[in-house]
Amino acid sequence: MECNLLKEKMKRKKRGLLIIAGLIILLPVVWFLLVRFEGRDPELVLELASPYIGKSHAFSISFADAQSGLRKIWAAMVKDGKEVVLVDTDFPSAGILSGGELKTQTLKIPFEPAKYQLSDGEAILRLAVWDYSWRGWWKGNRVYIEKNLIIDTQPPKIEVLSTVHNLTQGGSGLVIFRASEDSHQNGVQVGDNFFPAHAGYYKDTRIRMAFIGLGYQQGPETRIFVRAFDEAGNSAEAGINHYIRKKAFKKDNIRISDRFLNRKIPEFKTVANLQPTGSLVDKFIKINRDLRHANYEQLTGLVQTTAAVKHWEGAFLRMTGSANQAGFADHRVYEYNGKIIDRQVHLGIDLASVTHAPVPAANSGIVIFSGDLGIYGKTVLIDHGFGLFSMYAHLNASDVRKDQQVSKGETLGRTGSTGLAGGDHLHFSVLVHNTFVNPIEWWDAAWIRNNVTTKIEAAPAAPAGK
Ligand SMILES: [Zn+2]
Repeated sequence: MECNLLKEKMKRKKRGLLIIAGLIILLPVVWFLLVRFEGRDPELVLELASPYIGKSHAFSISFADAQSGLRKIWAAMVKDGKEVVLVDTDFPSAGILSGGELKTQTLKIPFEPAKYQLSDGEAILRLAVWDYSWRGWWKGNRVYIEKNLIIDTQPPKIEVLSTVHNLTQGGSGLVIFRASEDSHQNGVQVGDNFFPAHAGYYKDTRIRMAFIGLGYQQGPETRIFVRAFDEAGNSAEAGINHYIRKKAFKKDNIRISDRFLNRKIPEFKTVANLQPTGSLVDKFIKINRDLRHANYEQLTGLVQTTAAVKHWEGAFLRMTGSANQAGFADHRVYEYNGKIIDRQVHLGIDLASVTHAPVPAANSGIVIFSGDLGIYGKTVLIDHGFGLFSMYAHLNASDVRKDQQVSKGETLGRTGSTGLAGGDHLHFSVLVHNTFVNPIEWWDAAWIRNNVTTKIEAAPAAPAGK
């Protein structure tokens, strides 16, 4: 009996060991097969800003497969039933039992429709990627996508409608042109600066208006031309007939006194992100440079949106009974105790009348800013439409709020000396898009008639192109 029991025990032990041994061999095999037959799809990401494809394009595509690695990628374009293969690449395996060597791959696939004799029109991009899994009878997991595209290799067409463009350094102008329907961004390049054009004035929405501004530093050598872009990235340029008159600007010496510093600098203690340190003069310099710059940045942000409505009519108003104190683009040299401490250009006209004089809106428009603007103090900014703005600074008080519609002559507030102003006056500026221009032109009814109104009226009568 005892002997049998012992035998039975041994048998059981043997069987147990066999099972364990079997498991030790089998588990890794099962695990290995699970890994090699994994069913997770590889990843495929196509970066495409627009479905429009121009003359020369590069598709940016990233492929990834974290489990088995990449086996193969393939890309083709289908146009009018014809398929052209752009990429067909096999990636190496790391060994019979392992996956692929590559886990991720980012490709720039160049595509030039002309190279494959593909004409403009609708097309389909086909993309596929396989991994090194043993699924699908050792072919791998596959991801396949299709993307509808439009091949467009023709640049937009531009036809300049306004004929004469007589400009002055620091002055304004108006360019009117017709751009073909596929042109989704267009405007006028003035040196380094681009002035967006706007549809909306004419029934024919292909006709665009662009008010342009020459910076005070942009002389007769400045290149000016119309530019248009379509969604496929094709661009076109058209020259405009223009003449730029050179203008010299005044020099102005400004003496900074301790009295001025003591009175003004403490006001700037709480200016956001600007903690001026050091002596009062050091603080002044920092405010005059850095805060001026930050304020300009804020202004350029504000002028990005403008109404496609011509809110204004006729000459702009100049505050009545006021004398010009400082001119547009005066080149200011700041002196303190006989030493030059800074240089800045004054990009407006200072008008002084009586203390707290009422400030009229120079023309009709929409208030897009009413509040504190650093060195400019209490400021009102009006959008007159199509990228034309007027600005009123150093106000003692403002009577208008953002989004308010104001009429020409309506009181916006009262003059004051807020911001970096020595005494009570109005700092008046005109901006065309992001550029300060000479307000004198806009105060001049004859200038407006010759350079703006007549052109606006003549443009739609210009012969229509293709
Ligand atoms: Zn000023």
